[in-house]
Amino acid sequence: METVQPNRLTDHLPALRDRLERERAFRLEQLAELGSTSRPGDDALREVTEQITAAATIALNDIEIALLRMDIGSYGRCQTCHAEIPIRLLEAIPQLRLCPACQHDGTSKRSRIDLVDVWGHGSFPASDPPANW
Ligand SMILES: [Zn+2]
Repeated sequence: METVQPNRLTDHLPALRDRLERERAFRLEQLAELGSTSRPGDDALREVTEQITAAATIALNDIEIALLRMDIGSYGRCQTCHAEIPIRLLEAIPQLRLCPACQHDGTSKRSRIDLVDVWGHGSFPASDPPANW
């Protein structure tokens, strides 16, 4: 038997927004720091720095989108099928934009930047956002 979860997303929004804003501040700081670590001649370090920068940029992008979607009222819904994303998932990953089914679908169909997984959640390349976010 399935338990029906009441939709209490609005109760969670202030806390989720707070977390997203703190995460955004962290990413901005991280990117500023990465931008200042330039050591000419060390190609390996530069490559790693570039990869971390790319992943942090994508993470920041996700956060910005989540905050924007809060403003326009579409936060908490899957961007692909518009199903409600379970609150427990949003609490785990506030910037989540796809329901579990679409998340799974998207990751199997699309080639993605592997580094995104370092941060523990799926994303899309910043250069290729879905049209409907
Ligand atoms: Zn979906």
